[in-house]
Formats: sequence, structure tokens, C-alpha cells
Amino acid sequence: MTELLSADPSGIARAAALLRSGALVAFGTETVYGLGADATDARAVAGVFAAKGRPHFNPLICHYADADAAFAHVTANDAAHALAARCWPGPLTLVLPRAPDCPVALLAGAGLETLAVRVPAHPVARALLSAVGLPVAAPSANRSGAVSPTTAQHVLDGLGGRIAAVLDCGPCPVGVESTVLDLTGTRPFLLRPGGTTVEAIEAIVGPVGRGIPHATAEAARSLRSPGLLVSHYAPRLPVRLGATTIAADEALLAFGPPLSGAGATFDLSPTGDLPEAAARLFEGLRWLDAEGARLGLKRIAAMPVPESGLGLAIVDRLQRAAAPR
Ligand code: AMP
Ligand code: MG
Repeated sequence: MTELLSADPSGIARAAALLRSGALVAFGTETVYGLGADATDARAVAGVFAAKGRPHFNPLICHYADADAAFAHVTANDAAHALAARCWPGPLTLVLPRAPDCPVALLAGAGLETLAVRVPAHPVARALLSAVGLPVAAPSANRSGAVSPTTAQHVLDGLGGRIAAVLDCGPCPVGVESTVLDLTGTRPFLLRPGGTTVEAIEAIVGPVGRGIPHATAEAARSLRSPGLLVSHYAPRLPVRLGATTIAADEALLAFGPPLSGAGATFDLSPTGDLPEAAARLFEGLRWLDAEGARLGLKRIAAMPVPESGLGLAIVDRLQRAAAPR
């Protein structure tokens, strides 16, 4: 059963307690309803992808109560500070490099070196984020492929029974998603148009680069860095899929009981649990890449993962990692 919580102190306290316990709670912002999870808890973040039925891992926006909290987890530059001072709280998401000691789960950023951060303006969302005291990763609170929800009822229609609670924040006033701006390059680059206008941004930081009109964030990014495919973290070692045998010069990404004889082994889930495997995927790829380089291993060999539930997203990610480049 999904609890419907009202936007009063007890509802907000209940929503915060659920989030802190690793449960999924949808909440309203000025843009659309987000499906929130503790961003530092990889299992909770895996639950977001499972509840949405996403066939791949998109990087999620991390929501914070204020700019200081957001900038503790990323390396902010002058443009970020200037935009935060004028546009936050509000419908603007900034993509910045992760801080060295960033506690946000790698899965929340889909393994990227960067993190998308935002301080929403909605008073109930802000009260919730203050009460939680943790970054909250939240994509739109709809099943994958469905329209973004702008009322609590929309959320229940799509995700009722699949998440712990919805905090009813009333209808969303903006109703379109936040503007996503990449601040990691030499000049700001628009990844997604949204609730904050480009004109408003340019008045603060000067010209903003953009891709072809209506380009998706992915298309825009791949135009900018062709071949890098959204610059999702790609291991340096080649990747071999569907491994049922293993050699001593290979690093094994195991699922279930591991094959023996590998040069290094990282088990995504010894018991074959898909949410656990999703939560550990990016950590595993990074660890094997580093161990493989240290030990002079030739490639990463990944054991088969079932293509159901979160397994579909795991396999999608592994196929990208294995694609020729
Ligand atoms: P949604 O999950 O619907 O809120 O959409 C989040 C948007 O932010 C998507 O377009 C993502 O691709 C984008 N995004 C989130 N994190 C990053 C990142 N680190 N780099 C680039 N784009 C990002
Ligand atoms: Mg969405």
C-alpha cells in the first residue's frame, strides 16, 4: 500500500523518516512530482529504477535544501555560485564534477564523474529536504515512458503499490521539468530546456552553448563528445559479456556464485539479487578497472545477468561498456 501523506508537519516528518529508512517517497516540487530516494543509499536508488521500470540507468538529479548543502557534494565554479545566488531555489539543475569525497551513490549519477544538483523552490519540498538532511535523488515520479506527473493522483495512478508514500504537495505550479545546465566545460551548455529560461541564465553567465533544437540531453552530449555515448563511465579495460569460463588474466564481474580462477573478482550479488547487483554495478566496474590495471589483467569478463526487472538496465549498461570504441 502506498501511503498518501498530507503536506503538514506530521506528513512531512513521516515522509522524511521513510526516506531516511531507504524507502521511496514521491513529493511535489514546483516542476513535477519527483520519486525520491536517499541518494547516498545505492539500494534505495536501485529501487527508483525498479519502481519506474526504466530499462537503463539515467543519471538522476540530486535535490538539496540549500546551495551550501548542494555545493558540499560537487566542485562548484564561479558560474555555479552566480547562478545559485540568482536562480536557486528554483527550476534550474546544475551539472558539476563530483566532489572528491562525495557520498552520493555512483548509481545515482549512472557512474558519471559529474553530478546534477538542484535546490527546488516548492516550500513543502524544501521542508522535506531540510527534515531529511540527506541529498534526495529524484527523477520524475512516473513509470518509464509515461508523462511526468503534476498531481499526487497522477503519481498514484502510475506508481501506487510500488512505492512507500506520496507527499501531497498540491498541483505543481511550473509543470515542466527543470532546465539542466552543464557547467563542466569551457562554457555553460544547455542539456535540457526547462523551467528556467536560457535568457535568464545568459543574463547571469553570458552565452550558453546548445545542441540542435529539441535535442535530448543524450543527443546534445553525444554531439559534443562523439563516441563517448553520454560520456557514461566506460572502463578502460575491454569488456567481455556472458562469461561462463574465466582466465587468470581476466577480471571477473560475477553475478551469483563466482567462477573461480579469475585474476580479480567483484561479485555484484553472491545471492543473485538484481537490486543489490544494480546498486553495486558502477562501484564494481571501477574497482575491477583499477585492480585490472594494477595487476596487468587483459579485460573484464562479466557473467550473464538475467534480462528481467533491473537486470535489463544492468545488461544495457554492460553492453555499452562492451561496445567497441
Ligand atoms: P529526470 O530523471 O526526468 O528528472 O531527468 C533528469 C535529467 O538530468 C536527464 O535529462 C538527465 O540526463 C540529466 N542529468 C542528470 N545527471 C546528469 C549528469 N551528471 N550529466 C548530464 N546530465 C545529467
Ligand atoms: Mg522523466
